[in-house]
Amino acid sequence: MAQRGKFVKPQHRRISSAQVVAGKKISPNFVRVTIAGDELSSVSPMGFDQWFRMFVPQQGQKKLRLPTNASGFWYAKYKLMPKDVRPVVRNYTIREFRAAGSGLFGGTTEIDIDFTSHGDLGPASAWASSATAGDEVAILDEGLIYNPTPGAEWQLLVGDESALPAIVGILNSAPPDLRAEVFVEIADADDAQHVPVGDKVNIHWLVREDTTARPGALALRTVMEAELPAGPSYAFVAGESQLATSLRRHLVGDRGLPKSDIAFTGYWRHGHASY
Ligand SMILES: Cc1cc2nc3c(=O)[nH]c(=O)nc-3n(C[C@H](O)[C@H](O)[C@H](O)COP(=O)(O)OP(=O)(O)OC[C@H]3O[C@@H](n4cnc5c(N)ncnc54)[C@H](O)[C@@H]3O)c2cc1C
Repeated sequence: MAQRGKFVKPQHRRISSAQVVAGKKISPNFVRVTIAGDELSSVSPMGFDQWFRMFVPQQGQKKLRLPTNASGFWYAKYKLMPKDVRPVVRNYTIREFRAAGSGLFGGTTEIDIDFTSHGDLGPASAWASSATAGDEVAILDEGLIYNPTPGAEWQLLVGDESALPAIVGILNSAPPDLRAEVFVEIADADDAQHVPVGDKVNIHWLVREDTTARPGALALRTVMEAELPAGPSYAFVAGESQLATSLRRHLVGDRGLPKSDIAFTGYWRHGHASY
């Protein structure tokens, strides 16, 4: 019998080039960048937490050089590129996908990306905060990490602000009768986003009042102390790596959740650059 896969991978994928068509600050700590282009029509929208690898030029460069478009081997090709011209590669989530003809900025396919801003600390964050129309970008679709266990009676969704787009995407794609406890840690109450949900979904926005606290620590503590529903469940945890690993340990060790019913992903590491 075929085994249920851990992730939901796209059937076809390729590195698709696009251009920035808009960029604006939508809340104290989020910038929304919209990218568009004919090649984005090769991305099949899957909803939920669909994520992709984003390629942008290094700081101070305008031209985007890409590894040869061989989806399975892009990383090997990337490593062969000279260091001074290879693009910055980071992972992001499709916040909204608009098919060609239903865009807000023109006739081609559009994708919105919500970036948490951590200033010039990282090249992707810096790129997003200064993105202007015409800037070159490319993406490689990676599909879904969220893959709920059949038979789960309720779901636990937990993340810091970097996982806000994924959690909003999951809630927007979920069936109306989803039963879920949702914990999202944010730096400012005004970073909360409106999400229309059914009456069995409780969203807890956790505002990190202590600016020196490690992101994710508040979400971890809150969930560890929370009274959660009983019954078979599925947990999706994403954000700073310590949040993901510590919460998984708690769910398995203290709450008896099988490892196979938890998707936990370190989206970033405090004090460490990606790649
Ligand atoms: C599947 C997946 C989906 C993701 N989706 C999104 C998304 O939709 N929106 C989003 O904003 N992020 C998302 N992320 C997280 C994003 O990829 C990382 O935050 C990434 O490290 C940012 O790259 P950078 O170049 O800005 O910083 P890096 O070069 O990676 O790191 C530089 C410094 O910045 C710090 N840093 C990195 N990220 C953060 C952060 N979020 N907050 C504070 N400090 C940070 C690092 O600790 C390091 O000290 C996703 C990650 C994954 C794996």
